[in-house]
Amino acid sequence: MKIQDLKEKVLRGGNITLTEALFLAGQPDKEALYEAAHEITFRLADRRVDFCSIINARSGRCPEDCKWCAQSVHYRTDAEIYDLAHPDDCLNQAYQHELQGIGRFSLVISGRRPSRQLLKRICDTARYLRHYTSIRLCASLGLVDEEGMRQLADAGITRYHCNLETAPSFFPTLCSTHTQDDKIATLQAARRAGLEVCSGGIIGMGETMEQRIELAFKLRELDITSVPLNVLAPIPGTPLEHQPLLDDEELLTSVAIFRFILPRAALRFAGGRKRFSKDVQRRAMYIGINAAITGDLLTTTGSTSTEDHRLAQEAGYETDDTQADTLHLWHPYTSTSRPLPVYKVASARGTTLTLSTGQQLVDGMSSWWCAIHGYNRPELNQAAHEQLEQMSHVMFGGLTHEPAIELAQLLLPLIPPRLQKIFYADSGSVSVEVAMKMAVQYWYAKSRSHPGLEHLAQKQNFVTIRSGYHGDTWNAMSVCDPVTGMHSLFGPALPKRFFAPQPRSRFDEIWDEEDIIPLRFLIEEHADTLAALILEPIVQGAGGMWFYHPQYLVEAARLCQEYGILLIFDEIATGFGRTGRLFAWEYAGVEPDIMCIGKALTGGYMTMAAVLATNEVADMLSAQTPGVFMHGPTFMGNPLACAVACASIRLLTSREYDWQGKVFRIERQLKEELEPARALPQVSDVRVLGAIGVIELKQPVDMARMQRRFVDEGIWVRPFGRLVYVMPPYVIQPEELSKLTQGLIKVVKGI
Ligand SMILES: *Cc1c(COP(=O)(O)O)cnc(C)c1O
Repeated sequence: MKIQDLKEKVLRGGNITLTEALFLAGQPDKEALYEAAHEITFRLADRRVDFCSIINARSGRCPEDCKWCAQSVHYRTDAEIYDLAHPDDCLNQAYQHELQGIGRFSLVISGRRPSRQLLKRICDTARYLRHYTSIRLCASLGLVDEEGMRQLADAGITRYHCNLETAPSFFPTLCSTHTQDDKIATLQAARRAGLEVCSGGIIGMGETMEQRIELAFKLRELDITSVPLNVLAPIPGTPLEHQPLLDDEELLTSVAIFRFILPRAALRFAGGRKRFSKDVQRRAMYIGINAAITGDLLTTTGSTSTEDHRLAQEAGYETDDTQADTLHLWHPYTSTSRPLPVYKVASARGTTLTLSTGQQLVDGMSSWWCAIHGYNRPELNQAAHEQLEQMSHVMFGGLTHEPAIELAQLLLPLIPPRLQKIFYADSGSVSVEVAMKMAVQYWYAKSRSHPGLEHLAQKQNFVTIRSGYHGDTWNAMSVCDPVTGMHSLFGPALPKRFFAPQPRSRFDEIWDEEDIIPLRFLIEEHADTLAALILEPIVQGAGGMWFYHPQYLVEAARLCQEYGILLIFDEIATGFGRTGRLFAWEYAGVEPDIMCIGKALTGGYMTMAAVLATNEVADMLSAQTPGVFMHGPTFMGNPLACAVACASIRLLTSREYDWQGKVFRIERQLKEELEPARALPQVSDVRVLGAIGVIELKQPVDMARMQRRFVDEGIWVRPFGRLVYVMPPYVIQPEELSKLTQGLIKVVKGI
């Protein structure tokens, strides 16, 4: 047996056995053991120290006889005795801790089990805290049943703490008034009520190393991921008052062993650590302690959080300065109570994102299709600065300005020639709303244009294809994929649309004539009520990163023509060269009646979109009552956004920039360098079109973990579902792109 082999085993996801743990504990070469534990910690566990805090909300007078405890009525100690703290005192402390960047606050009370009344008062306090702070709440109240746990969960407590304290074989020696099984039942009740759990113990109470290992194994068996490690501080008056103190080496070895047994857990420094020198505490963190209770502890004075933050930094951890973000900000598609980790960006230039930690990442996402020229592009910066000096914004009702006019003139030669009218909108989703309203209003106007056409007013519904994504607002949601899309829960509240299956003919393979049949059936059947067919041409983005055959668009356009329904292209993601054509409709050569553009319109600088329409659509709307198109956002045609969009388009279309050369080069390199992924057992498909590279996996990924791995590789990639994909800025250099593709493959291999 070798330390190295055991480390490798753990890194590969294996569990070490009792014999192996004993072998590690008996290692004479402590340094080698510590280094190995350190590697496990920094590879598998969280590298941001997880700080929490507690308030001793009721102290003393505990009927239990735990031999280590200052609060037991069985022993005469100096511990303070007081009744439940006032809610305002709790609030004050919670608030102070939140300000110090501490993520959790635990209400701790002494006693065997809280009475109904006490539990209610604690719940009231928790609710009070949830009103005025966002620090996450924990509770540690002794033995509580499932009903009690549900009350705590309802009151806003998210995690319950109950230590196993020591090895199952040693516990009865230390406490006779309750059993460890009582504690385990409490943890299980907490879990059943939907609470997270936190459980650890105290070392240095006279247990053997084997018993310490036994405790760690028990915690592993219970799948505990937050593990407080206390070191006994012998308290005068308790039976353990003369217990010899744990020495430095025993502490560090225990930490290392716990890390081997619980590789991913938050091993939390709790009570008793102050007795050790700063140096030893730092070493313990380096080896495996990646969490800590900070602020004042129960009956011993703790350490201030600033000191603890410094210790953590010195031990090599990343400091988390995103606490206020985590507690107060919503991110796209995330929970606020269990948020995914976020990385703080300090600046971005070219294709490089620089995090606040100083780490640099090659950007593979173009900030969701937008930043096609990379970040901090001088031409775009200049346009923004110059426009700022003139005006940031004026209303578009009754006023106009040069940037709006120039943008129209720049866009017209790039878009389908039939699209002659431009409506500026605030975001992609809003432009989809606008396009859909336009289609409905078109048929309304048409129904009034001639006697006998009244039935056209019924054409108010939409047909689309599965796996589409069109945005997050109400109507945009209604045409997203109803099952795999991100909006299925809104189903009953959304207008009901018609969905044809996703086109199966791949972009680069032979067209299968059967592909269009389901759409034909749908349209035949429902043409009377259909205003338009809306789809993303060629590339379906967020709904599945799928590339389909151009002939589908040709056939779809023919159906629309035949059955009298409008055709809307959503080119919000595909626009401005991403697919290898300036806009994806060019692959099929069919022009829509209405088209949405957005995302890369401003080169990723700010939000803006546009809806493009034919004269036929615009004329019809304008000719009939009410005679105007019923939409007009406050920030319509924002001059700053228009000015930057103009600069972005001028840059994109300049000869020296050669966007097509850039995109083709990226396409060639992506095809070559992602190809090896096809052979991996985890991978079900690899596809590349233009500057988009997709690896489709067989299983959905754990986004947070995979993102962490990408960051480790120095690249910024955000997978979702079974899709790992890149769409880098066009200005990416070949070596940077290689870094992206190599990082992708390496991480995919490792899952
Ligand atoms: C991103 C996207 C949208 C929505 O745009 P937002 O600016 O996020 O509102 C709509 N359609 C497609 C195809 C998109 O990719």
